[in-house]
Formats: sequence, structure tokens, C-alpha cells
Amino acid sequence: MHRKLNRILVVDGSEVARTLIARILNEEIPDTETVACGSVAEADRLLDESGFDLITTALMLPDADGLELCRRIRASQRHHYTPTVVVSGDADSRLLREGFAAGVTDYFDKSLGYRAFADFIKAFLQRNSGLVGRILYVEDSRTAAMRLIRLMEGHGLQVVHTTHAEQALELLRNAGPATGGDQDPFDVVVTDFYLQGHLTGGDLLHAIRARYHYSRQEMPVLVLTGSEADDRQAEVFHAGANDFVTKPVVEEVLMARIRSLLLIRQQFAALKRQSDHLRRLATTDSLTRVCNRRYLLDHGERFLASRDHQPVAALLMDIDHFKKINDIHGHITGDRVLEALGALLRERLPEDALAVRFGGEEFALLVPRCSLHDARRCAEDLRLEVEALQPAGVPVTVSIGVATNQIGSGMRLTELIGEADRALYAAKAQGRNRVCA
Ligand code: GH3
Ligand code: MG
Ligand code: MG
Ligand code: MG
Repeated sequence: MHRKLNRILVVDGSEVARTLIARILNEEIPDTETVACGSVAEADRLLDESGFDLITTALMLPDADGLELCRRIRASQRHHYTPTVVVSGDADSRLLREGFAAGVTDYFDKSLGYRAFADFIKAFLQRNSGLVGRILYVEDSRTAAMRLIRLMEGHGLQVVHTTHAEQALELLRNAGPATGGDQDPFDVVVTDFYLQGHLTGGDLLHAIRARYHYSRQEMPVLVLTGSEADDRQAEVFHAGANDFVTKPVVEEVLMARIRSLLLIRQQFAALKRQSDHLRRLATTDSLTRVCNRRYLLDHGERFLASRDHQPVAALLMDIDHFKKINDIHGHITGDRVLEALGALLRERLPEDALAVRFGGEEFALLVPRCSLHDARRCAEDLRLEVEALQPAGVPVTVSIGVATNQIGSGMRLTELIGEADRALYAAKAQGRNRVCA
């Protein structure tokens, strides 16, 4: 959705000041329209005529003062919730005393300069501007739903509406990421507590937490309730809600809650992306992009023991006369060869196989559900592919040792690798560029 144009009203008794402010805001903040005036009376008239998203006012104005303007703004229908920033020369003690009651949203100390003012307003608008997110909204009353959908969409949100908890669960099941579904994931669920059908909003919540195992950070849920007694509110939290809003819904309250839930969800997702990335970095060999030895040591034993991996084949693949390749073509070309072999392994091995850079020019491969017969064939295929590859224009061959845990299930990783290593040694001894088991 296109982000709406921000309209800012600047109220300042000094013409020089307001012209400067208006110009700098127009320059620094794209998608803004700034209107300026010099008195409370003029501001009153402008605010009556059209809607603004943000109002800034000087504290001293020719006809009344900035706090009086704030009080009028709060008393008005149209701008009851519009953020109002007082721009003043110093942190006046009167501001601190009366500002909150007057409805001042924030202060800016103008001795910091107008550039800083533009940055301040920019940050302010960013915090308060259009929301980005997909909401799953469950509400059985069509009229209530129509109003809230319009409202949420008006704030930039994408809304998918259902009337029954059953449908909502269906949608959640088909949407990633935890389930690996193919639909876009939802960011926040907003649900009515009372729903027609078998399941209530409470049941939906329970299913989200206890059946789908979404945490409060992964899938925040906001519950819409009647104005209930405290024990019902406690029940809503107990069922796994992040927060609730009582009906009739006040736009600003709903949006403030959704905003903070989106923030939780987005920060959690960012944190998770970051830690996934770090984990990948820590377990991947940077040159060949297959797993590093550390990863094999940490996870190999479990991989080998996993019930649905049986039998597991281990292939040890070592480049033949790699030292000569380095000597003849240089170390950089040697690196390119290793890189190309890593790429080949990542591409050719089954998705759930484990490819590891085991040593300098040696790879260990663990292939699940692979008999000795299949492992031999797999190794032979790989050997032929490497032979045909000629990475960086260099003819390269490999020797591969193969072993499986077929007979001795319950075999340790070191034993299995040890057996593959003996087979590799035999392949080298028999003249290289071959597979031994
Ligand atoms: P063999 O057929 O018996 O395996 O002979 P080889 O020369 O391949 O075996 P050797 O173990 O004697 O030598 C391995 C060489 O691999 C030595 C080392 O310099 C090189 N090597 C190890 N890691 C890297 C690397 O990251 N980049 C490059 N370019 N060379 C590496
Ligand atoms: Mg209802
Ligand atoms: Mg070698
Ligand atoms: Mg070697």
C-alpha cells in the first residue's frame, strides 16, 4: 500500500522561524506537506478545515500560548489523537508541570537547531507512521469486522479476515514459517473472544500456543473482549494472549497495541535471522561452503544414531596429488578447486546428507538411508563427476573410501569414519582415482 502523505501544521509567532521550519521539513522529509501559521486563532481555523498528522507549536504565541493550543486540539473531534510537539527555547518547568495535562506529546529544545529539529520530526513520524504487517483478524460480527478492517487497512496493515476460529486455524496451518507452509506468514492475530461455532477466541489462542507451539514473540495475539471483570481478563492472558482491547474499540488504543505487538514480532524475527546467520557462519567452512569439522564433531554422532537415517553411509573423499596441483598452478588455483568441489557436493548430494570439509583437501560425507551397494554407486558417480569437472581448468581426480553402519548398527562415528579412512587408504594404495569399500 502506498504510504500516505504526512501533513504537518507548524504554529510559530515568528514568521522567520516558521518559514525556516517549513522549508527544512519539506526538504528533509519526503512525502510531507507543511502548512504554517502564526497564531492560535489561525491554527484553530486550519485544524477545522482539514486533517493533520502532526502539529508543532511554539510555547509563546501572540494571542494565547502553545499549551492552550494543545488543550484545544485534545478537545477537538478531528485532532483528538494527533501528536503535538512543543518547540521551546528551554525545558520550561511550566511545561513539565502542565504539559501532560494539556496533552503535549513531546518537546523539542529549539536551541539544538533546525537540522536537529528535522531529524527529530523524521524519527517521530517513523515511529508513528504507516504500519507494515499482515494481520489475521477473527471476528464473527460482520459490522464490527467491517469497521476494524477499514481502520487497520487505513493504517497500512494487510488484513485477512475470518469469522470462525476453525478457519483461522486452517489459515495458520497453511502459513509459514514454523509450519513451513507456502502462504505468507501472519505477523499478529487479532481475535474476538466470543465467536460463533465450536471454538471460541480462547480455544483459538490455546491452539496457537499449545498445538502449533507459537510463542508470544513468534505470533502475538491481541484479544478483543467486552468490558469484563478482572478475572476474565486474567483468563485471556492465561490462555496465551499478549494483550487485549475492550470493545467498543478505540482506534488509537487498538493501533498502539498492534504497533507494539508488531515491534515484538519484528524484533524477534530479526534476532532470529541474525542468530541463524551467525550459527551458519560458525558451522560452515568459508571456502567450500560445506559444513566444517566442528559441525561434524557436534552433530555427527546424533546424525548417525537417528532412527530414520538407518543405514548411514560414510564416504571419505580425498583429492589426488593435491600438493602437485598447488605446486604447479599455485595456491589460489588450489583454492578454486576446493571451492568447486564444495559446490559439486552441495549440488549433487541428497538434501538431507551431511557434507563436511574434514581436512585440507578431504571431505567426509554422511548419507542417510544408504546401503553399502548404494554408497558404492554414489561414490562412483561422484568420482566420475569430479573427473569430468576440470575446475579452474585443472584436471582433478579423487579417491573415495566407503563404509556403512549396516552390520554394526550402534556403531560410533569414529569407528565408521575410521573404516572409511582405511578404505580410502586402500584406494590410494591401489593407484588413486578409484572407490574402495
Ligand atoms: P594424495 O593423493 O596422497 O592425497 O596426495 P596429496 O598431495 O593430495 O596429499 P597431501 O596430504 O600430501 O597434501 C595435501 C595438500 O593440500 C597439502 C596442502 O598444502 C594442501 N591444502 C590443504 N588445505 C588447503 C587449502 O585450503 N588450499 C589449498 N590451495 N591447498 C590446501
Ligand atoms: Mg463475537
Ligand atoms: Mg590428497
Ligand atoms: Mg589428504
